Amino acid sequence: MFKNYFNKFWGMFSEDLGIDLGTSNTLICVRKKGIVLNSPSVVAINNKTKELYAVGEKAKAMIGKTPAHIDAIRPLKNGVIADYEVTEKMLRGFYKEINKGSGKLAGPRVLICVPAGVTQVEKRAVIDISTDAGAREAFLIEEPMAAAIGAGIDVFQPEGNLIVDIGGGTTEIGVISLGGIVKTSSLKVAGDRFDNLITEYIRQEHNLLIGYKTAERLKIEIGAVIPLEEELTCEISGRNLITGLPVNITVTSTEIANALEEAGNQIIEEIKSILEKTPPELSSDIKRTGIYLTGGGALLRGLDKKLSNSLKLNVTVVEDPLNAVINGIAKFLGNFNEYKSILMSPENNY
Ligand code: ADP
Ligand code: MG
Repeated sequence: MFKNYFNKFWGMFSEDLGIDLGTSNTLICVRKKGIVLNSPSVVAINNKTKELYAVGEKAKAMIGKTPAHIDAIRPLKNGVIADYEVTEKMLRGFYKEINKGSGKLAGPRVLICVPAGVTQVEKRAVIDISTDAGAREAFLIEEPMAAAIGAGIDVFQPEGNLIVDIGGGTTEIGVISLGGIVKTSSLKVAGDRFDNLITEYIRQEHNLLIGYKTAERLKIEIGAVIPLEEELTCEISGRNLITGLPVNITVTSTEIANALEEAGNQIIEEIKSILEKTPPELSSDIKRTGIYLTGGGALLRGLDKKLSNSLKLNVTVVEDPLNAVINGIAKFLGNFNEYKSILMSPENNY
């Protein structure tokens, strides 16, 4: 009886962990168990005592609504760790959730996916946070590589593949071949930027002030980058800038497409510039294999069509794009020895 209990307990903690530390969402998987946590990368902190007040979904619900002594913070911004201490508090909060109370990790290996653009100091920081929390060893993997594995691509083939991961803070573009990243680029145009552009558009066109969560809701519910065959609409509330009163308005998907046009073009330009720098043998592979779209931004309506029309390439939105990275990490953990040659060294920068 005691032994059973012990085994269950030990089984939970002794398995390797994988973490997708995204600017919008953090996902954690346990080897052989699958995803055990999927939470917004947000923390609420009591700014007087500096104590953790809430983490994840609870903290995200507080954005824009906190009293003076509580700050709801997203510690990762633009794909980088903007606040080390708060990131540490957040990760410990998540470890606590999966450990049912303890912020300590009892010795597993941890594989963490970081945006390809993070600095050496930040990579060290992510490793230190995990080892401080009790991980025996912490390893890093770049986002485009994890996304490619998650998308089901055989990354060890001598064949070029182009991955575009549109997350919250950054769009990460990577050309992958033979288990390595040949070219990579990180553009600060992604989900957060889309939300800001929508907010700005609604302010200018409707004289209406809306919050971050309303902008994100518009993007998710009716967001598009080209006019849709069947137009979608969504009713939102905000504060009229002239009267100061709260009002409701209806927004269309065509309006969102107008608001996001420039951002879509910036992503296209960045992909073009990577393609221009890609060795010709790999370019001809990509002509055949096309582009794989991952990350939450891949769900924007019409983005695949827009990219494919402008770049004259096939575009595949991978199945379950929000989970592509964590699925890749889970596969990696399931076969650590096969994949370990593609681990990122903390000292290596592209
Ligand atoms: P990160 O890895 O940076 O945390 P994710 O890949 O988790 O980012 O994607 C989060 C982003 O995707 C957020 O900006 C979110 O608003 C956006 N997103 C989620 N679902 C959709 C959707 N259906 N359409 C457009 N954007 C979406
Ligand atoms: Mg991501």
